[in-house]
Amino acid sequence: MAILGIDLGTTNSLAAVWRNGRSELIPNAGGDYLTPSVVSVDEDGSVLVGQAAKDRLISHPERTAARFKRYMGTQKVFQLGDRSFRPEELSALVLRRLKEDAECYLGEPVTEAVISVPAYFAEAQRSATKRAGALAGLTVERLVNEPSAAAVSAHISEGDEDKVCLVFDLGGGTLDVSLVERFENVVSVTAVSGDNRLGGSDFDRAIARGFCEETGIDFDRLDSRRQEMLIRQAETCKMALTVQPMVVMSVDDGTIRASLPMNNEWLIRKCSRLFQRMAAPVQKVFRDASIRVEELDELVMVGGSSHMPSVRQYIAQLLGREPASDSRPDTAIALGAGICAGMKARAADLRELVLTDVCPFTLGVATYNEAEPRRDRMSPLIERNSVLPTSKEGIYSTVRDGQTRIDLKIYQGENPYCEDNTLLGELEVTVPSAPRGQEPVRVRFTYDINGLLEVEAVSRSGKPARLVLQNKEMTQREVERRLQELSALKLHPRDQEVPRALIAKAERMYAMTVGDVREQVDRMLAWYQHELSLQEPIRVAKASRRMEKFLDSVEAYLGQDTLDDFFPDPGDQEDF
Ligand code: ADP
Ligand code: MG
Repeated sequence: MAILGIDLGTTNSLAAVWRNGRSELIPNAGGDYLTPSVVSVDEDGSVLVGQAAKDRLISHPERTAARFKRYMGTQKVFQLGDRSFRPEELSALVLRRLKEDAECYLGEPVTEAVISVPAYFAEAQRSATKRAGALAGLTVERLVNEPSAAAVSAHISEGDEDKVCLVFDLGGGTLDVSLVERFENVVSVTAVSGDNRLGGSDFDRAIARGFCEETGIDFDRLDSRRQEMLIRQAETCKMALTVQPMVVMSVDDGTIRASLPMNNEWLIRKCSRLFQRMAAPVQKVFRDASIRVEELDELVMVGGSSHMPSVRQYIAQLLGREPASDSRPDTAIALGAGICAGMKARAADLRELVLTDVCPFTLGVATYNEAEPRRDRMSPLIERNSVLPTSKEGIYSTVRDGQTRIDLKIYQGENPYCEDNTLLGELEVTVPSAPRGQEPVRVRFTYDINGLLEVEAVSRSGKPARLVLQNKEMTQREVERRLQELSALKLHPRDQEVPRALIAKAERMYAMTVGDVREQVDRMLAWYQHELSLQEPIRVAKASRRMEKFLDSVEAYLGQDTLDDFFPDPGDQEDF
């Protein structure tokens, strides 16, 4: 049975599978490889995932959720209509959609997956990702770091050349940077860094704000629907600037009406702070790996935002080298995850390949701070960029006479004081009563290949205390109960995805326009719904094609601010 490789992105998700000696991407019902990581609950209670849900962000924001990957591992609750979801449950719904698409494409059931996660993902986020898999009916034994997946796919596509390569992954919400060495059949990640609050959506916001600044609109005083609409427009313009030198952003929804030409220089000016933030993690990986920039052989740029010419130019300048011409920004990670799935399945043609990864942050325990008793100090046990899996031991002791208990606090982070780092968990260890400093406690950290930590502490009284952080939040029983609840939710039927997505898009266009254009959209929507109601497959297919063309032309109009004869009369069907 095939194992899926999944790139579960903040913005888009993709699935791949290792077949016939290569990693193969799996198309969704609409024929695309990228499925937007957006979930929306329809008025009838069924769940939409993907493009249709993405369009509903504008027309039905109160029933739709996006960018929930940013909240993985937190307690945040998303309210969609009358239902509420945790971030991992929304991710589970995306995974379920990908699983169904894969089963349909492969013609067999799929129950196991390798999922890629950002390298900087901490414990809580990694376990939440595994739980999301479980909630989607997928066993996830292996998590792979996204940059490592990208590096593996670059390695496979190029053959066994020995190289030092930098993987720069700028997605929708995050930046991941890693240095990877490739030697014969071994791909080793040697250092990772990043910024988990920097991505394409920050550019969208900066552009939307820049647009408002220059057209005299107070962005902060707009309601969230209008803000979302402007951000969406800004994203369309940003993407247009990838392929053309100039674009006019224009908005007209009855209350706000403005338009502004923009080019890449304008974009760089408005987003200068974002560019500056990109440099730090790039410099950090070179320092951590003790490699000089001149020793770099290859620059691999992945993530949707690596399409941006301004980003490519900035990084190329910073490193004094052009990005590899065959980087595949959108699909490299999924293809790599597909390769890792093949490795997991022990595919004969991948037996030789070895991937080693590193721990992205320092893990340690809190120790008493004589000088400032209220500020515990961090005592590192596993330092960042240690090769995985790894196991390290430290000896600690009591700080008071007659102390019989040590509360071991486990932290992650790079700061000398624990209060500035992230608390991962606590472990209680009993010790025999003795004068201070005389009772040793052996603490062992074991960090596995998936980036999940196990802590064991043993005192002379003998009984070892163990903490597996992975199970901190949800018991197996809870997972099973939630699994049942989620399974009871109906995903929108796969064979109706295309019409449903077109309707959602039309509703978005309706929300974004006024006057004649809006009227046109409304008429086409009514016409299309009528065609669908007749339930004649050929007629539905023809109507869908026509609707798609029409909506594309409205979209083009929205991005261009010219009122050419974009809008054909819905009456003369044959012209399409
Ligand atoms: P994630 O890994 O976060 O899911 P992706 O790697 O899919 O994200 O990247 C999504 C981001 O890439 C979005 O912010 C999107 O606007 C941006 N993006 C995608 N294609 C382009 C393009 N052609 N030009 C500029 N930005 C793009
Ligand atoms: Mg990504």
